[in-house]
Amino acid sequence: MDFLLSEDQKSLRNKAREFAINEVLPVARKYDESEEFPLPVIKKAWEEGLLNLGIPTEYGGPGYGLLSSCIVVEEISSACPGIATSIFDNNLGAEPIVIGGNEEQKQRILTELVNEFKLIAFATSEPTMGSDVAGMKCFADKDGDEYILNGNKFWITNGGYADYITVFATVDPEKKHKGIAAFIVDTQTEGVKLGKHIPKLGQRSSNTVSIGLKDVRIPKENVLAKPGRGFVLAMQTFAHTRPAIGAFAVGCARSAMEYSIDYAQKRETFGRPIGNYQVIQEKIANMYKDIEAARLLTYKAAWEADQGMDNNLSSSVAKAFASDVAMNVTTEAVQIFGGYGYLRTYPVEKLFRDAKLYQIYEGTSEIQRIVISRFAMKRYEHAMPSLGKKRD
Ligand SMILES: Cc1cc2nc3c(=O)[nH]c(=O)nc-3n(C[C@H](O)[C@H](O)[C@H](O)COP(=O)(O)OP(=O)(O)OC[C@H]3O[C@@H](n4cnc5c(N)ncnc54)[C@H](O)[C@@H]3O)c2cc1C
Repeated sequence: MDFLLSEDQKSLRNKAREFAINEVLPVARKYDESEEFPLPVIKKAWEEGLLNLGIPTEYGGPGYGLLSSCIVVEEISSACPGIATSIFDNNLGAEPIVIGGNEEQKQRILTELVNEFKLIAFATSEPTMGSDVAGMKCFADKDGDEYILNGNKFWITNGGYADYITVFATVDPEKKHKGIAAFIVDTQTEGVKLGKHIPKLGQRSSNTVSIGLKDVRIPKENVLAKPGRGFVLAMQTFAHTRPAIGAFAVGCARSAMEYSIDYAQKRETFGRPIGNYQVIQEKIANMYKDIEAARLLTYKAAWEADQGMDNNLSSSVAKAFASDVAMNVTTEAVQIFGGYGYLRTYPVEKLFRDAKLYQIYEGTSEIQRIVISRFAMKRYEHAMPSLGKKRD
Protein backbone atom coordinates (compact mmCIF):
# COMPACT_ATOMS: atom_id res chain seq x y z
CA MET A 1 0.00 0.00 0.00
CA ASP A 2 1.33 3.41 -0.95
CA PHE A 3 -0.20 6.72 0.09
CA LEU A 4 2.22 8.90 -1.86
CA LEU A 5 1.26 10.86 -4.96
CA SER A 6 3.48 10.33 -7.99
CA GLU A 7 5.64 13.20 -9.28
CA ASP A 8 3.21 13.57 -12.23
CA GLN A 9 0.28 13.82 -9.83
CA LYS A 10 2.09 16.41 -7.73
CA SER A 11 2.83 18.57 -10.75
CA LEU A 12 -0.76 18.16 -11.96
CA ARG A 13 -1.93 19.33 -8.52
CA ASN A 14 0.37 22.35 -8.74
CA LYS A 15 -0.96 23.22 -12.18
CA ALA A 16 -4.59 22.88 -11.02
CA ARG A 17 -3.85 24.91 -7.87
CA GLU A 18 -2.28 27.69 -9.90
CA PHE A 19 -5.30 27.72 -12.20
CA ALA A 20 -7.65 27.75 -9.19
CA ILE A 21 -5.87 30.65 -7.49
CA ASN A 22 -5.18 32.77 -10.58
CA GLU A 23 -8.23 32.13 -12.77
CA VAL A 24 -11.05 30.91 -10.52
CA LEU A 25 -10.71 32.52 -7.09
CA PRO A 26 -10.61 36.17 -8.29
CA VAL A 27 -13.96 35.81 -10.10
CA ALA A 28 -15.73 33.33 -7.79
CA ARG A 29 -17.75 35.93 -5.86
CA LYS A 30 -18.57 37.92 -9.00
CA TYR A 31 -20.13 34.95 -10.78
CA ASP A 32 -21.92 33.87 -7.61
CA GLU A 33 -23.52 37.31 -7.28
CA SER A 34 -24.42 37.71 -10.95
CA GLU A 35 -25.36 34.02 -11.47
CA GLU A 36 -23.78 34.38 -14.91
CA PHE A 37 -22.23 31.35 -16.51
CA PRO A 38 -18.40 31.62 -16.23
CA LEU A 39 -17.80 30.82 -19.91
CA PRO A 40 -14.37 32.57 -20.14
CA VAL A 41 -13.08 30.56 -17.14
CA ILE A 42 -14.35 27.30 -18.57
CA LYS A 43 -12.82 28.12 -21.95
CA LYS A 44 -9.51 28.86 -20.22
CA ALA A 45 -9.74 25.47 -18.44
CA TRP A 46 -10.17 23.83 -21.86
CA GLU A 47 -7.12 25.72 -23.20
CA GLU A 48 -5.10 24.53 -20.18
CA GLY A 49 -6.18 20.92 -20.72
CA LEU A 50 -8.20 20.87 -17.48
CA LEU A 51 -11.66 20.40 -18.99
CA ASN A 52 -11.94 16.88 -20.43
CA LEU A 53 -9.84 15.11 -17.83
CA GLY A 54 -11.12 11.59 -18.43
CA ILE A 55 -10.90 11.47 -22.22
CA PRO A 56 -8.42 8.72 -23.17
CA THR A 57 -5.23 9.57 -25.05
CA GLU A 58 -6.39 7.59 -28.15
CA TYR A 59 -8.92 10.38 -28.68
CA GLY A 60 -6.52 13.21 -27.94
CA GLY A 61 -7.45 13.63 -24.27
CA PRO A 62 -5.06 13.72 -21.31
CA GLY A 63 -6.22 10.24 -20.27
CA TYR A 64 -5.91 11.01 -16.59
CA GLY A 65 -7.13 8.28 -14.32
CA LEU A 66 -9.91 9.11 -11.91
CA LEU A 67 -7.48 9.61 -9.03
CA SER A 68 -5.63 12.30 -10.98
CA SER A 69 -8.95 13.87 -11.97
CA CYS A 70 -9.92 13.99 -8.28
CA ILE A 71 -6.67 15.78 -7.49
CA VAL A 72 -7.54 18.44 -10.10
CA VAL A 73 -11.15 18.94 -9.03
CA GLU A 74 -10.27 19.26 -5.32
CA GLU A 75 -8.08 22.24 -6.24
CA ILE A 76 -10.63 23.95 -8.49
CA SER A 77 -13.45 23.37 -6.03
CA SER A 78 -11.37 24.89 -3.23
CA ALA A 79 -11.54 28.17 -5.18
CA CYS A 80 -15.17 27.91 -6.30
CA PRO A 81 -17.40 24.83 -6.02
CA GLY A 82 -19.84 26.21 -8.63
CA ILE A 83 -17.18 26.80 -11.28
CA ALA A 84 -15.69 23.37 -10.47
CA THR A 85 -19.08 21.74 -11.06
CA SER A 86 -19.34 23.44 -14.45
CA ILE A 87 -15.79 22.47 -15.42
CA PHE A 88 -16.18 18.83 -14.39
CA ASP A 89 -19.58 18.54 -16.08
CA ASN A 90 -17.86 17.74 -19.39
CA ASN A 91 -16.51 14.62 -17.67
CA LEU A 92 -19.99 13.66 -16.52
CA GLY A 93 -21.47 14.29 -19.97
CA ALA A 94 -18.70 12.43 -21.81
CA GLU A 95 -18.36 9.49 -19.39
CA PRO A 96 -21.27 7.47 -20.90
CA ILE A 97 -19.49 7.72 -24.27
CA VAL A 98 -16.12 6.77 -22.74
CA ILE A 99 -17.72 3.74 -21.05
CA GLY A 100 -20.42 2.69 -23.53
CA GLY A 101 -19.78 4.40 -26.86
CA ASN A 102 -18.72 2.51 -29.99
CA GLU A 103 -15.43 3.32 -31.70
CA GLU A 104 -17.02 5.65 -34.26
CA GLN A 105 -18.84 7.64 -31.54
CA LYS A 106 -15.66 7.94 -29.48
CA GLN A 107 -13.62 9.11 -32.47
CA ARG A 108 -16.27 11.61 -33.50
CA ILE A 109 -17.42 13.11 -30.20
CA LEU A 110 -14.52 12.67 -27.78
CA THR A 111 -11.99 13.93 -30.33
CA GLU A 112 -14.18 16.94 -31.06
CA LEU A 113 -14.45 17.79 -27.34
CA VAL A 114 -10.67 17.84 -27.08
CA ASN A 115 -10.00 19.75 -30.31
CA GLU A 116 -12.76 22.33 -30.06
CA PHE A 117 -14.23 24.17 -27.09
CA LYS A 118 -17.50 22.25 -26.81
CA LEU A 119 -19.66 21.46 -23.80
CA ILE A 120 -21.44 18.20 -23.16
CA ALA A 121 -24.06 17.74 -20.44
CA PHE A 122 -25.69 14.69 -18.85
CA ALA A 123 -29.43 14.14 -18.44
CA THR A 124 -31.24 11.46 -16.49
CA SER A 125 -33.32 13.66 -14.14
CA GLU A 126 -36.80 14.92 -14.93
CA PRO A 127 -39.29 17.24 -13.19
CA THR A 128 -40.99 14.24 -11.53
CA MET A 129 -37.94 12.07 -10.83
CA GLY A 130 -34.32 12.30 -9.77
CA SER A 131 -33.47 9.51 -7.34
CA ASP A 132 -35.68 6.94 -9.03
CA VAL A 133 -33.77 6.79 -12.32
CA ALA A 134 -35.77 3.74 -13.46
CA GLY A 135 -38.93 5.82 -13.14
CA MET A 136 -38.08 8.22 -15.96
CA LYS A 137 -40.82 9.16 -18.42
CA CYS A 138 -38.95 10.85 -21.27
CA PHE A 139 -40.05 8.70 -24.17
CA ALA A 140 -37.91 7.17 -26.92
CA ASP A 141 -39.99 5.89 -29.81
CA LYS A 142 -38.17 3.52 -32.18
CA ASP A 143 -38.58 4.42 -35.85
CA GLY A 144 -36.55 2.01 -37.99
CA ASP A 145 -32.94 2.41 -36.93
CA GLU A 146 -33.69 5.82 -35.46
CA TYR A 147 -35.46 7.03 -32.33
CA ILE A 148 -37.75 9.99 -31.68
CA LEU A 149 -37.48 11.60 -28.23
CA ASN A 150 -40.31 13.37 -26.43
CA GLY A 151 -40.25 14.65 -22.84
CA ASN A 152 -38.55 16.97 -20.39
CA LYS A 153 -35.28 16.79 -18.52
CA PHE A 154 -34.70 18.94 -15.43
CA TRP A 155 -31.77 20.36 -13.41
CA ILE A 156 -29.35 19.81 -16.27
CA THR A 157 -25.96 21.29 -15.40
CA ASN A 158 -24.41 23.38 -18.22
CA GLY A 159 -27.54 22.51 -20.25
CA GLY A 160 -28.10 26.08 -21.43
CA TYR A 161 -24.67 26.17 -23.09
CA ALA A 162 -24.24 22.53 -24.09
CA ASP A 163 -23.38 21.47 -27.61
CA TYR A 164 -24.25 17.87 -26.78
CA ILE A 165 -26.24 16.13 -24.08
CA THR A 166 -26.13 12.44 -23.21
CA VAL A 167 -29.84 11.85 -22.71
CA PHE A 168 -31.39 8.80 -21.04
CA ALA A 169 -34.95 7.95 -22.12
CA THR A 170 -37.31 4.99 -21.99
CA VAL A 171 -39.01 2.99 -24.72
CA ASP A 172 -41.64 1.95 -22.17
CA PRO A 173 -42.00 3.51 -18.67
CA GLU A 174 -43.72 0.28 -17.50
CA LYS A 175 -40.51 -1.66 -18.13
CA LYS A 176 -38.66 0.52 -15.59
CA HIS A 177 -34.87 0.01 -15.82
CA LYS A 178 -35.27 -2.56 -18.61
CA GLY A 179 -36.75 0.08 -20.93
CA ILE A 180 -34.04 2.72 -20.59
CA ALA A 181 -31.80 3.61 -23.54
CA ALA A 182 -29.21 6.37 -23.96
CA PHE A 183 -28.58 8.83 -26.78
CA ILE A 184 -26.12 11.48 -27.85
CA VAL A 185 -28.23 14.56 -28.55
CA ASP A 186 -26.82 17.40 -30.60
CA THR A 187 -28.53 20.47 -29.10
CA GLN A 188 -28.84 22.02 -32.58
CA THR A 189 -31.28 19.25 -33.55
CA GLU A 190 -34.80 20.43 -34.32
CA GLY A 191 -37.09 20.05 -31.29
CA VAL A 192 -34.43 20.56 -28.60
CA LYS A 193 -35.31 23.50 -26.35
CA LEU A 194 -32.72 24.64 -23.80
CA GLY A 195 -34.46 26.31 -20.84
CA LYS A 196 -33.56 29.41 -18.86
CA HIS A 197 -31.15 29.31 -15.90
CA ILE A 198 -32.89 28.13 -12.72
CA PRO A 199 -31.84 30.28 -9.69
CA LYS A 200 -30.28 28.30 -6.82
CA LEU A 201 -29.20 28.48 -3.16
CA GLY A 202 -25.53 27.88 -3.94
CA GLN A 203 -23.13 26.96 -6.73
CA ARG A 204 -24.84 29.82 -8.53
CA SER A 205 -22.25 30.11 -11.26
CA SER A 206 -23.06 26.60 -12.50
CA ASN A 207 -25.75 26.76 -15.13
CA THR A 208 -28.85 24.66 -14.33
CA VAL A 209 -31.71 24.38 -16.82
CA SER A 210 -34.60 22.27 -18.02
CA ILE A 211 -34.40 20.67 -21.47
CA GLY A 212 -37.49 20.23 -23.63
CA LEU A 213 -37.44 17.46 -26.24
CA LYS A 214 -40.20 17.54 -28.84
CA ASP A 215 -40.10 15.02 -31.67
CA VAL A 216 -36.30 15.05 -31.58
CA ARG A 217 -35.04 12.62 -34.20
CA ILE A 218 -31.94 10.70 -33.15
CA PRO A 219 -29.98 9.20 -36.02
CA LYS A 220 -28.73 5.61 -35.70
CA GLU A 221 -25.12 6.74 -35.14
CA ASN A 222 -26.14 8.65 -31.99
CA VAL A 223 -27.75 5.71 -30.20
CA LEU A 224 -25.42 5.16 -27.26
CA ALA A 225 -27.14 2.34 -25.41
CA LYS A 226 -30.02 0.16 -26.56
CA PRO A 227 -33.13 -0.29 -24.35
CA GLY A 228 -32.15 -2.23 -21.24
CA ARG A 229 -28.52 -1.07 -21.43
CA GLY A 230 -29.12 2.59 -20.58
CA PHE A 231 -29.80 2.09 -16.88
CA VAL A 232 -26.60 0.09 -16.37
CA LEU A 233 -24.68 2.73 -18.31
CA ALA A 234 -26.05 5.49 -16.07
CA MET A 235 -25.06 3.54 -12.93
CA GLN A 236 -21.57 2.81 -14.32
CA THR A 237 -21.21 6.51 -15.10
CA PHE A 238 -22.16 7.50 -11.54
CA ALA A 239 -19.64 5.03 -10.08
CA HIS A 240 -16.98 6.91 -12.06
CA THR A 241 -18.18 10.42 -11.26
CA ARG A 242 -19.19 10.10 -7.58
CA PRO A 243 -15.57 9.99 -6.40
CA ALA A 244 -15.13 13.37 -8.10
CA ILE A 245 -18.07 14.73 -6.09
CA GLY A 246 -16.15 13.50 -3.03
CA ALA A 247 -13.15 15.50 -4.26
CA PHE A 248 -15.32 18.62 -4.84
CA ALA A 249 -16.57 18.29 -1.27
CA VAL A 250 -13.02 17.89 0.08
CA GLY A 251 -11.89 21.04 -1.79
CA CYS A 252 -14.84 23.05 -0.49
CA ALA A 253 -14.32 21.85 3.10
CA ARG A 254 -10.56 22.38 2.91
CA SER A 255 -10.99 26.06 2.06
CA ALA A 256 -13.57 26.52 4.81
CA MET A 257 -11.06 25.00 7.26
CA GLU A 258 -8.18 27.16 6.02
CA TYR A 259 -10.22 30.36 6.30
CA SER A 260 -11.32 29.27 9.78
CA ILE A 261 -7.75 28.71 10.98
CA ASP A 262 -6.74 32.08 9.55
CA TYR A 263 -9.64 33.87 11.21
CA ALA A 264 -9.23 32.06 14.54
CA GLN A 265 -5.65 33.27 14.76
CA LYS A 266 -6.61 36.90 14.08
CA ARG A 267 -9.96 37.49 15.77
CA GLU A 268 -9.65 38.37 19.43
CA THR A 269 -12.28 38.13 22.17
CA PHE A 270 -11.71 38.75 25.89
CA GLY A 271 -8.17 39.84 25.02
CA ARG A 272 -7.06 36.62 23.30
CA PRO A 273 -7.28 35.17 19.77
CA ILE A 274 -10.29 32.83 19.59
CA GLY A 275 -7.90 30.12 18.33
CA ASN A 276 -6.53 30.00 21.89
CA TYR A 277 -9.80 28.58 23.21
CA GLN A 278 -10.06 24.80 23.35
CA VAL A 279 -13.61 24.75 22.04
CA ILE A 280 -12.41 26.43 18.81
CA GLN A 281 -9.33 24.17 18.63
CA GLU A 282 -11.62 21.16 18.86
CA LYS A 283 -13.66 22.43 15.91
CA ILE A 284 -10.46 22.87 13.86
CA ALA A 285 -9.21 19.39 14.84
CA ASN A 286 -12.54 17.84 13.80
CA MET A 287 -12.42 19.67 10.48
CA TYR A 288 -8.88 18.48 9.82
CA LYS A 289 -9.46 14.80 10.64
CA ASP A 290 -12.76 14.63 8.74
CA ILE A 291 -11.27 16.23 5.62
CA GLU A 292 -8.33 13.83 5.78
CA ALA A 293 -10.71 10.84 6.06
CA ALA A 294 -12.93 12.16 3.24
CA ARG A 295 -9.92 12.57 0.95
CA LEU A 296 -8.66 9.04 1.68
CA LEU A 297 -12.09 7.51 0.95
CA THR A 298 -12.30 9.56 -2.24
CA TYR A 299 -8.85 8.44 -3.38
CA LYS A 300 -9.71 4.81 -2.60
CA ALA A 301 -12.92 4.94 -4.68
CA ALA A 302 -11.04 6.61 -7.55
CA TRP A 303 -8.13 4.17 -7.28
CA GLU A 304 -10.49 1.20 -7.47
CA ALA A 305 -12.00 2.61 -10.67
CA ASP A 306 -8.52 3.13 -12.12
CA GLN A 307 -7.69 -0.54 -11.35
CA GLY A 308 -10.80 -1.59 -13.30
CA MET A 309 -12.45 -2.83 -10.09
CA ASP A 310 -16.15 -2.48 -9.32
CA ASN A 311 -16.16 0.72 -7.22
CA ASN A 312 -19.90 1.10 -6.87
CA LEU A 313 -19.79 0.66 -3.08
CA SER A 314 -16.66 2.70 -2.42
CA SER A 315 -17.91 5.57 -4.61
CA SER A 316 -21.14 5.74 -2.57
CA VAL A 317 -19.16 5.62 0.69
CA ALA A 318 -16.83 8.40 -0.50
CA LYS A 319 -19.59 10.63 -1.84
CA ALA A 320 -21.85 10.26 1.20
CA PHE A 321 -19.02 10.77 3.69
CA ALA A 322 -17.30 13.67 1.93
CA SER A 323 -20.60 15.48 1.28
CA ASP A 324 -21.50 15.34 4.98
CA VAL A 325 -18.00 16.51 5.87
CA ALA A 326 -18.34 19.51 3.54
CA MET A 327 -21.70 20.42 5.09
CA ASN A 328 -20.44 20.02 8.68
CA VAL A 329 -17.14 21.81 8.11
CA THR A 330 -18.72 24.78 6.32
CA THR A 331 -21.37 25.04 9.06
CA GLU A 332 -18.67 25.11 11.74
CA ALA A 333 -16.67 27.60 9.67
CA VAL A 334 -19.63 30.02 9.68
CA GLN A 335 -19.80 29.50 13.47
CA ILE A 336 -16.10 30.27 13.96
CA PHE A 337 -16.53 33.51 12.01
CA GLY A 338 -19.43 34.47 14.29
CA GLY A 339 -21.56 37.28 12.86
CA TYR A 340 -19.09 37.82 10.05
CA GLY A 341 -19.64 34.22 8.95
CA TYR A 342 -23.22 35.14 8.15
CA LEU A 343 -22.24 38.07 5.96
CA ARG A 344 -21.16 38.06 2.36
CA THR A 345 -18.00 39.87 3.46
CA TYR A 346 -16.12 36.60 4.01
CA PRO A 347 -16.01 33.53 1.77
CA VAL A 348 -17.40 30.97 4.27
CA GLU A 349 -20.99 32.12 3.69
CA LYS A 350 -20.66 31.10 0.01
CA LEU A 351 -18.94 27.79 0.78
CA PHE A 352 -21.74 26.96 3.26
CA ARG A 353 -24.36 27.50 0.52
CA ASP A 354 -22.27 25.71 -2.10
CA ALA A 355 -21.66 22.62 0.08
CA LYS A 356 -25.33 21.68 0.36
CA LEU A 357 -25.50 20.54 -3.26
CA TYR A 358 -23.07 17.66 -2.66
CA GLN A 359 -25.68 15.93 -0.49
CA ILE A 360 -28.21 16.19 -3.31
CA TYR A 361 -26.91 15.79 -6.86
CA GLU A 362 -25.54 12.60 -8.45
CA GLY A 363 -27.53 10.55 -5.96
CA THR A 364 -28.65 12.04 -2.65
CA SER A 365 -27.01 11.10 0.65
CA GLU A 366 -30.06 8.93 1.40
CA ILE A 367 -29.63 7.01 -1.86
CA GLN A 368 -25.92 6.46 -1.13
CA ARG A 369 -26.90 5.06 2.28
CA ILE A 370 -29.35 2.67 0.62
CA VAL A 371 -26.47 1.36 -1.53
CA ILE A 372 -24.21 1.05 1.52
CA SER A 373 -26.77 -0.58 3.85
CA ARG A 374 -27.80 -3.03 1.11
CA PHE A 375 -24.19 -4.16 0.91
CA ALA A 376 -23.65 -4.18 4.68
CA MET A 377 -26.79 -6.17 5.39
CA LYS A 378 -26.73 -8.59 2.47
CA ARG A 379 -23.25 -9.05 1.04
CA TYR A 380 -20.77 -8.02 3.70
CA GLU A 381 -18.91 -11.07 5.05
CA HIS A 382 -18.91 -11.14 8.86
CA ALA A 383 -15.78 -12.11 10.73
CA MET A 384 -17.60 -13.04 13.96
CA PRO A 385 -19.66 -16.23 14.23
CA SER A 386 -23.39 -15.76 13.99
CA LEU A 387 -25.37 -15.14 17.17
CA GLY A 388 -27.25 -18.33 16.41
CA LYS A 389 -30.96 -18.92 16.20
CA LYS A 390 -33.40 -16.08 16.68
CA ARG A 391 -34.95 -16.23 20.15
CA ASP A 392 -38.47 -15.15 21.10
C1 LIG B 1 -27.96 22.10 -8.96
C2 LIG B 1 -28.34 20.74 -9.46
C3 LIG B 1 -27.68 20.23 -10.58
C4 LIG B 1 -28.07 18.99 -11.09
N1 LIG B 1 -27.48 18.53 -12.25
C5 LIG B 1 -27.98 17.42 -12.86
C6 LIG B 1 -27.51 17.02 -14.16
O1 LIG B 1 -26.61 17.63 -14.74
N2 LIG B 1 -28.10 15.94 -14.74
C7 LIG B 1 -29.10 15.23 -14.13
O2 LIG B 1 -29.58 14.26 -14.72
N3 LIG B 1 -29.56 15.58 -12.91
C8 LIG B 1 -29.04 16.66 -12.26
N4 LIG B 1 -29.52 17.03 -11.02
C9 LIG B 1 -30.60 16.28 -10.42
C10 LIG B 1 -30.21 15.54 -9.16
O3 LIG B 1 -29.44 14.41 -9.50
C11 LIG B 1 -31.50 15.18 -8.39
O4 LIG B 1 -32.01 16.38 -7.87
C12 LIG B 1 -31.23 14.20 -7.29
O5 LIG B 1 -30.91 12.94 -7.82
C13 LIG B 1 -32.46 14.05 -6.36
O6 LIG B 1 -33.60 13.85 -7.10
P1 LIG B 1 -34.94 14.71 -6.77
O7 LIG B 1 -34.52 16.13 -6.70
O8 LIG B 1 -35.97 14.32 -7.74
O9 LIG B 1 -35.35 14.28 -5.33
P2 LIG B 1 -36.29 13.04 -4.99
O10 LIG B 1 -35.84 11.83 -5.69
O11 LIG B 1 -37.70 13.46 -5.19
O12 LIG B 1 -36.02 12.86 -3.44
C14 LIG B 1 -36.57 13.76 -2.45
C15 LIG B 1 -36.02 13.33 -1.09
O13 LIG B 1 -36.44 11.99 -0.80
C16 LIG B 1 -35.30 11.17 -0.57
N5 LIG B 1 -35.55 9.85 -1.12
C17 LIG B 1 -35.92 9.53 -2.38
N6 LIG B 1 -36.07 8.20 -2.51
C18 LIG B 1 -35.79 7.67 -1.30
C19 LIG B 1 -35.75 6.33 -0.78
N7 LIG B 1 -36.01 5.27 -1.55
N8 LIG B 1 -35.42 6.16 0.52
C20 LIG B 1 -35.12 7.22 1.30
N9 LIG B 1 -35.14 8.50 0.88
C21 LIG B 1 -35.46 8.72 -0.40
C22 LIG B 1 -34.16 11.87 -1.28
O14 LIG B 1 -32.91 11.47 -0.74
C23 LIG B 1 -34.51 13.31 -1.00
O15 LIG B 1 -34.10 13.66 0.29
C24 LIG B 1 -29.09 18.24 -10.46
C25 LIG B 1 -29.72 18.74 -9.31
C26 LIG B 1 -29.35 19.98 -8.81
C27 LIG B 1 -30.08 20.50 -7.59
